[in-house]
Amino acid sequence: MKPSILVHICCAPDALYVMKLLKERYRVTGYFYNPNIYPGKEYQLRLEETRKVAQSMPFDLLEGDYDASFWLAKTKRFKKEPEKGLRCDICYALRLDRTARRASSEGYDYFTTVMSLSPWKKAAVLNRIGRMLGNKYKISFFESDFKKKDGFKKSVELSLRFGLYRQNYCGCIYSFQEMEKRRKVKKDRG
Ligand code: SF4
Repeated sequence: MKPSILVHICCAPDALYVMKLLKERYRVTGYFYNPNIYPGKEYQLRLEETRKVAQSMPFDLLEGDYDASFWLAKTKRFKKEPEKGLRCDICYALRLDRTARRASSEGYDYFTTVMSLSPWKKAAVLNRIGRMLGNKYKISFFESDFKKKDGFKKSVELSLRFGLYRQNYCGCIYSFQEMEKRRKVKKDRG
C-alpha cells in the first residue's frame, strides 16, 4: 500500500498541480488551513476553488479553522517586513505547525505543503521549518521545491485549462495592501 500524506494546501491552482504529482506515490489528503488570507470573501473564494479541485481529482479535503485574529496577533510585530521577509517565515511556520500536529495525531506517514510551488515562497525555509516540526511531532516531512522542472509554469497552464481563479497577491492583509499600491501606481501612470 502507498504511504499516506497530509498535504497543506494554500490555493486551488497550486493544489491542482502538486496533488496530481503526489498521487502517483502517496495516498493524499489535502488540508486547507490558511488563517492568513484577507479579506474573508477572498478566503471563501480560495476555499471553494480548492473544494472543486478536490472533488474532480478526487482527494479528501480537510478544512481547518479560519482563525484570522490568531494569525494577525502572531504576525503584527512584523507587518512592515517585505514579502519573503521574517513575517512570511512565521506565516509558513504557523500553517505547517498545524498541519504537522494534525498529521501526527491522525496517524499519517508524512506531511508536506504545496507552497514551494510558488516562485514567491522560499523552499529552503519551508523545508527547514518542515524538518523541525517533523522532529517536534515525530512525523516525516516530505521536502520539496515543486517549482523546479518548470513546475510553476506547468501549474499555470493546468489551472488555466481548468478555469481556476488565480489570485494576484499572496494572501495576507499586508500583501493585499502592497498589491493595491502597485495597482494605483500603474493606474496613475496610465
Ligand atoms: S506575504 Fe504571503 S507568506 Fe508572507 S505573510 Fe503574507 S500571506 Fe504569509
